[in-house]
Amino acid sequence: MDSERDPLDSPSLSPPHPPPTLFDKDRHVMFLQMMYQLLPYQYQTQEINRLTLAYFVISGLHLLRQLNSIDKEAVADWVLSFQARPRVQGEINNEQFYGFHGSRTSQFPSDDNGILVHNGSHLASTYCALAILKIIGFNFSNIDSESILTSMRNLQQPDGSFMPIHTGAETDLRFIYCAAAICCMLENWSGMDREKAKEYILNCQSYDGGFGLNPGSESHGGATYCAVASLRLMGFIEDDLLSKNGSSSIINVPLLLDWSLQRQAADGGFQGRPNKDSDTCYAFWIGAVLRILGGEKFIDDKSLRGFLLTCQSEFGGFSKFPGQLPDLYHSYYGYTAFSLLEEPSLNPLCAELGIANFATLGI
Ligand SMILES: [Zn+2]
Repeated sequence: MDSERDPLDSPSLSPPHPPPTLFDKDRHVMFLQMMYQLLPYQYQTQEINRLTLAYFVISGLHLLRQLNSIDKEAVADWVLSFQARPRVQGEINNEQFYGFHGSRTSQFPSDDNGILVHNGSHLASTYCALAILKIIGFNFSNIDSESILTSMRNLQQPDGSFMPIHTGAETDLRFIYCAAAICCMLENWSGMDREKAKEYILNCQSYDGGFGLNPGSESHGGATYCAVASLRLMGFIEDDLLSKNGSSSIINVPLLLDWSLQRQAADGGFQGRPNKDSDTCYAFWIGAVLRILGGEKFIDDKSLRGFLLTCQSEFGGFSKFPGQLPDLYHSYYGYTAFSLLEEPSLNPLCAELGIANFATLGI
């Protein structure tokens, strides 16, 4: 799921040295520790996604086994300060969503008439907030999960999809995924109607085996991840489907496997759609689908590693395309991709949640 408007995308710079041959963990740790202290000014336009950026940094440090370098108590207090809460108990049924805001500014937005709307909490920020809290070992019994789950049901549409925010917006597979990941982390599925969500997801599988963001849309790597990971989180498909009886699954597994494997391009990297350039982040979006299916053994690991290393920056982090400057989004998905490739210095990944395995969190 790539943002086409990545502000850190820059014109191609030719790499000053031959591409490195090793995953340079020390530089990646330095890169993330720098981002933990202070974000470069280029991220100003992403202020609204502050929690998401923090998720990339903190979950990234966890994948790199460097979580001891952060102040967990300060991080927990900061994350919890973004939760929207009902002013009185009865207010929970007022059609609003009481999740987490993406940043401080979204806590005080105004509408077209200049009237302040106090609740702009969002499903994606809520996923990121809970993921950060989980990673730092916060005790979830101290979270007001009742408000989150009860109000989240207001966001689910009659067709099973989710709006990300109570004031309305596009509805698609991305927000079903966020809702499923939220329920999974809170260990409580009262926040969504899983059957309806399943029906929506099944309607998004295209004739070519991949999934589009909506029924009838073109297959896309990010949408395919959201579909398969959500079905796995909700318990509708088993892990390692290929070794079991894939033909009895609720999705067309052989066609999905075929579509996913065809996304590995001649340069070794993964593309999000046919005829697109390889891009670091799809090594995770499609690699994780293959992991869930049990089809990662069909990936050409060596050439994927080779492609990813051409996107590894000499400053630490990863870029979208070879030879560009790194950004947090592609750095994070570079780390998750290397974790899927079983890089020995990284924590193993929980493919369907996009963070390190719960076992490595001591949960
Ligand atoms: Zn990308």
